[in-house]
Amino acid sequence: MSPTPFFPVHSETSPESGTDEYYMSMALEEARLASQEGEVPIGAVLVYQNQILAKNHNRREQNRDPTAHAEILVIQQGAGFFPSWRLEDTTLYVTLEPCPMCAGAIIQARIPRLVYGTDDPKSGAVHSLFQLTTDSRLNHRCQIVAGVLREESAQLLREFFRKRRGIR
Ligand code: ZN
Repeated sequence: MSPTPFFPVHSETSPESGTDEYYMSMALEEARLASQEGEVPIGAVLVYQNQILAKNHNRREQNRDPTAHAEILVIQQGAGFFPSWRLEDTTLYVTLEPCPMCAGAIIQARIPRLVYGTDDPKSGAVHSLFQLTTDSRLNHRCQIVAGVLREESAQLLREFFRKRRGIR
């Protein structure tokens, strides 16, 4: 399946089109879809020069694939638009701080900018447990913006786990 390069941008309500909050709210929409599908609600959007190259959400359960994290899926989708494997001039938006696998993929893809919602104290590899994307021993470093729509992202996760505990 080839991803659609452009999504129509209509924004008469806040947040303003083209801002970090705008793209993060789109990632949150993806996270809500994940929740509806019984997946841990994490969403991601990959943006290149104000164009949305890919958006997706965690699909670990439905794909029965431990690597089907939102970030990996948008990197794979978005990579097709570039002449090489480098995702130059892109920003990756994700609702939760990336894990070690996804932080590794962000480095491998040479993504220059990462924006995430809420910290992940249990497996975050950007700030919480490890600082992979800013480690000077690696040959790529990434600009990090943390805490964009933090509360909305955290709330979705809390609700999801509360409901799941209720079911069990
Ligand atoms: Zn991950």
